[in-house]
Amino acid sequence: MTPEDWLAFRFDCGAAWLNFLATRGRTFSPNPVERLATPDRLAAWLRQCDLSPASPPDRDDLRRAWEVREMLRALALAAVEERPPPPAAVADLIAFLAGHDDPVQLIAGDRLGREPPATTARALARIARQAVDQLTGSDRSALRSCPERDCRGVFIDPPGRRRWCPSPACASRGRVRALRARRDGTTLGPTDPAAANPRRRSGPAGSGPGAA
Ligand SMILES: [Zn+2]
Repeated sequence: MTPEDWLAFRFDCGAAWLNFLATRGRTFSPNPVERLATPDRLAAWLRQCDLSPASPPDRDDLRRAWEVREMLRALALAAVEERPPPPAAVADLIAFLAGHDDPVQLIAGDRLGREPPATTARALARIARQAVDQLTGSDRSALRSCPERDCRGVFIDPPGRRRWCPSPACASRGRVRALRARRDGTTLGPTDPAAANPRRRSGPAGSGPGAA
């Protein structure tokens, strides 16, 4: 992959809030990929999500975006791994949402629309509320996390058949490791997706689309 590929936004995780988490790649590696490195990049990402605020993001907005993203990541991973949510992330989320009330104002035009968010913080609050809806409702059962230890990207996969996150890099690394493990007669160890995603439906080995 070229550096440009690494920095490209990902919109393949199944929901805007999950794509927001994917604005940081290889999160758990020593060298994470920051795809929202500047306020302009945050503005570009929000634009692609139809969430452009009335005034463009500044450095403080960027810092807040990083904070909200990592708070949501902690809650998402806890949900996928069936752990209790980290209390600090819950408290931060409650405080953030309480400070950014954002009543729904619909616009009926060629298609159903919504008033754009007045500020970047409100745009982020819309993303956070989408996360809350998913994490607190029955849709949370469709969430998976990538078994690659440096990624752990969260994505939606209702059938529970996908082994890795939609990033081609994770799938190819995982396949290489699986091949090597088969060749050496060893097990996959802690990156075994069945172990990482305990709710994943079991099927014949290698039946998932990522296993080819
Ligand atoms: Zn991944």
